[in-house]
Amino acid sequence: MSEVIVGIDLGTTQSAVAVVDSGFPILLANDVGRTLTPSAVWYGGNGEVEVGDEALRRSGVDEVVTSVKSLMGRRVDEAGGRLTGRGVLRTAGGDVTPEEVSAEILKSLKTVAERRLEKVVEKAVITVPAHFHDAQRAATKRAGELAGLEVLRIVSEPTAAALSYGLDRLDECAKVAVFDLGGGTFDVSILEMREGVFEVAATAGDTSLGGDDFDRAIAEYAAGELGLEFWKLEGMEKVRFLNEGRRLKQALSEQADGMFRIPFLGEVPLKVEDFEKIMEPFLDRMEASCRRAMLDAGVDTADLNTVVMVGGSSRIPVVKERVQRVFQSVPDLSQHPDEAVARGAAIQAGVLAGTVREVLLLDVTPLSLGLETMGGLMNVLISRNTTIPCKAGEMFTNAADGQESMRVRVLQGERELARDNWELGAFEVPFKPAARGQARVGVEFRIDADGILSVLARDVTTGEDVVIEVGSAAVDVTEAKVEQMVSESVEHAFEDMSARVFEEARLKADELLPAVETALAQLGDVLEEEEVRRIKESREAVLEAIKKRDATLLKSAVEDLDDATEGLAALLMEKATQALFSNPQD
Ligand code: ADP
Ligand code: MG
Repeated sequence: MSEVIVGIDLGTTQSAVAVVDSGFPILLANDVGRTLTPSAVWYGGNGEVEVGDEALRRSGVDEVVTSVKSLMGRRVDEAGGRLTGRGVLRTAGGDVTPEEVSAEILKSLKTVAERRLEKVVEKAVITVPAHFHDAQRAATKRAGELAGLEVLRIVSEPTAAALSYGLDRLDECAKVAVFDLGGGTFDVSILEMREGVFEVAATAGDTSLGGDDFDRAIAEYAAGELGLEFWKLEGMEKVRFLNEGRRLKQALSEQADGMFRIPFLGEVPLKVEDFEKIMEPFLDRMEASCRRAMLDAGVDTADLNTVVMVGGSSRIPVVKERVQRVFQSVPDLSQHPDEAVARGAAIQAGVLAGTVREVLLLDVTPLSLGLETMGGLMNVLISRNTTIPCKAGEMFTNAADGQESMRVRVLQGERELARDNWELGAFEVPFKPAARGQARVGVEFRIDADGILSVLARDVTTGEDVVIEVGSAAVDVTEAKVEQMVSESVEHAFEDMSARVFEEARLKADELLPAVETALAQLGDVLEEEEVRRIKESREAVLEAIKKRDATLLKSAVEDLDDATEGLAALLMEKATQALFSNPQD
């Protein structure tokens, strides 16, 4: 087991921690179930400290430290009056340095990772904006150390974003633009691939332009409409306006109009067009920075291989439109914009830990992979076009009483019936004999970054494993064969589907018929004659449909039988419960 190194996006407004697990960068959720933790810290008078959503809840009532990132490694005269002469922030819990505040955020992310991974986490890769100078990077590193983390590397945010998009597979000299519009800041960078790593060719932006400004602009507009002056609002009221501004802004990324609502004060309708007008001056500033970055890097829009957008505010449609216009290409926004940087940090961490190969192979499975299950059906575990590495699993049970093993057939293909797919391998999984449906066998498929498929089967009761390596056949398939399989699956789609429906209904019937038989023998005389007749008729219909091999008929006959036996089943339950209570010595 290699050591854990986490990747951390220490953001101005939100932070996240991620790790590479079985080849994938995944974000770890905090105690409130969120992968994004607000970069907010509250210090209480008695030395208490709260971080994230908990801290943020206190804003408006108590002083909460936010956007500390903009103070990292800054001199007092650069801090816009936020730092005292001694370079500290005043809080109810005493004076703290920006590094100490960041350390609290990092500590809380470290704890999140330790809880989720159930392991001690002592090493991290932390991202910083490309424009951070040495003092700012050093301060970030010290914050990590204060939090008990060895900071193995400080990575630029655009580089991490590019990694999460798998852009490290681009050719030598490839150029990409990374547009990052977050909560408090805007950065745009032009990266160039040199000798397999990204170099930042130019970076531009605005350290005071981001989502917070849009929230405020909406709040100001709404306050005006309500006959209030925004700058006069204080404490809780101001927080309420800003929060409502943010809510409405985010809603307008999805819908054409919305309502700014403050209970007991009033409502202000806002259309997307109005919001876009409010955005216009911000968009112009962004555009100027984008042009500046291209100019500094000496590139033209035509030289760029791709443009990726990250940062939560990239979700705003009018921002996307402007980016598209400026760069004259459709930007890539396929990764979660507020998670991409953390993912990239995790990939970098994975490379350092040796869990990710230098070049991340973003291949896909050409055809679906699965197992044959009862009734000769194909049960897909990994579907076609899944990015590798990947893994997937499912639980199976025994089809017969006292069965001692299960045959696992590893199949590849797009057809519904097992026999129409290709067999990549087969093996026997032994398990402890049990009554039908009682044994539990977990089967997991894993395809590693090299495309090697291994299958693990585990008897859950004994914990015994069987592992086989199937080899690279899951990935190495000629294009012609893939095409043949896919076109056959389309051609036979209808009959395949009806075969599946039939087999599934027959499995249900196989379960239902003997159960009905036993129940009728036990309780038949308690039931109304009419009900018994209906059950018997439904049973005949099922047997008849099986004989005819008619899928639709069988499906509805099984449903009928299920309906007809509802009363019987209830009676059976009642009996069982009675037996339970009238037999206290059991
Ligand atoms: P940072 O890196 O500055 O910490 P993030 O990249 O996490 O910030 O972005 C946070 C910002 O993204 C916030 O201002 C938030 O309101 C904004 N945001 C998140 N989702 C949306 C959305 N759907 N529409 C508009 N803005 C959004
Ligand atoms: Mg960010």
